[in-house]
Amino acid sequence: MTQSSETPVLDRALERLDLADDARKMLRHAHKRIQMSVPIRRDDGTLSVFQAWRVQYNTVLGPAKGGVRFHPDINLDEVTELARWMTIKCALMDLPFGGGKGGVQVNPKDLSRQELERLSRSFVREMGGLMGPDTDIPAPDVNTNPRIMGWMADEYDQIAGTRTPAAITGKPLPLGGSEGRVAATGQAALYVLQEWADRQDRAPEDTTVAVQGFGNAGAHFAMLAHEAGFKVVAVSDSGGAIHAKDGLDPAPLHEEKEKGKSLDKVYSDTSVSDADAHEQISPEDLLKLEVDVLALAALQDAITQDNVDDVQAKAILEIANGPVTPEADTTLEDRGVTVLPDVLVNAGGVTVSYFEWVQGRTGDRWSAQDVEDRLKARFDRIAPQCFDRAEKDETSMRQAAYAIAVERISAAIESRGDSCYFKG
Ligand code: NAD
Repeated sequence: MTQSSETPVLDRALERLDLADDARKMLRHAHKRIQMSVPIRRDDGTLSVFQAWRVQYNTVLGPAKGGVRFHPDINLDEVTELARWMTIKCALMDLPFGGGKGGVQVNPKDLSRQELERLSRSFVREMGGLMGPDTDIPAPDVNTNPRIMGWMADEYDQIAGTRTPAAITGKPLPLGGSEGRVAATGQAALYVLQEWADRQDRAPEDTTVAVQGFGNAGAHFAMLAHEAGFKVVAVSDSGGAIHAKDGLDPAPLHEEKEKGKSLDKVYSDTSVSDADAHEQISPEDLLKLEVDVLALAALQDAITQDNVDDVQAKAILEIANGPVTPEADTTLEDRGVTVLPDVLVNAGGVTVSYFEWVQGRTGDRWSAQDVEDRLKARFDRIAPQCFDRAEKDETSMRQAAYAIAVERISAAIESRGDSCYFKG
């Protein structure tokens, strides 16, 4: 992973803001970084040992919260960076959580289903006493999913000797997962887009949107944005992209994609959206379209110094984590392109994870409508705070989001008594 857009932004926030000195010191370091060797018995009887890490970056506001990633290239530095990101995101959203992340250095596609289950359970055993609803709460991330969370939750319960549904989030619904989790990230990204459009006096029907990445987050965002009246003119996945200058309906594409097809196959079948006039373009060309909003919902580093000059959008909606590199971010800021930052835009996922944690602790079950209402209420509160702060400080939205998050953490550190207090 290249340096995320987060590192220099956090450094700048720590330098620029009037913070408790203790907060500045604490936020520059990870609280705990644990390395584990996770053994599993392979199907052929041999033993394999995988390197794994769990980082609890900061736990001042509450237990560490963050996903577990299975990836062959993951390493301790990357897990630390991702845990720091979670710290900012949870603080910005005013959740009672700190930030954490886990990683196992493995290509899950090299494992059988049984081996994957053994690895998931073994990871939890190695985490041992670190995990728990009041200490550190894992969730899905890249290459992990609700089924894996189900295995992990079951293993945790067996070790604890009790049912503890709040120990892990992102679980399957029958095991205490939350309604609304699947669409949460796309839904909340739409709330941020609507706030931006409102503040510009921009009608949705006059706002064109291109979406890079038609996966879970991007497809739900595209469908909801279309339903809300925005003109979705292009969508892409790793296999292809389509463009329809008068707008397209993403729902039938999603239906086809769910059947396991990539977008280019969907399109060449001409079996969906026949009423729309589509042209096929390359995924790279989608980034260059003259649209009002470019929503990035694929991978990190989608916009770099190499292609930033081709971007013609007026605003970028960062649904993926870190889709704009720090250098490209600066270039866009200089050009007056508004970048709506990942820590706010994609925080719908962790917010519904928090709802799942609350339901797990109380034994309550919320309906899909309850979850949606609560998600909306949270974004109705936090998104305007970010826009107002950016306006007041005359900074980027990213700087504003970091300022709010860092000040929340700093206030908690000060409340425990900081150096000034102890110096008398
Ligand atoms: P996903 O795997 O379901 O979807 C990713 C999509 O991006 C796929 O359709 C893939 O084909 C496409 N893609 C990959 N490379 C591409 C390219 N070069 N051009 C165009 N499309 C490309 O993943 P997801 O869960 O939707 O997550 C997407 C991003 O959002 C990730 O960065 C993830 O970390 C972030 N995110 C997701 C959630 C969530 O709730 N799903 C929450 C927070 C952040």
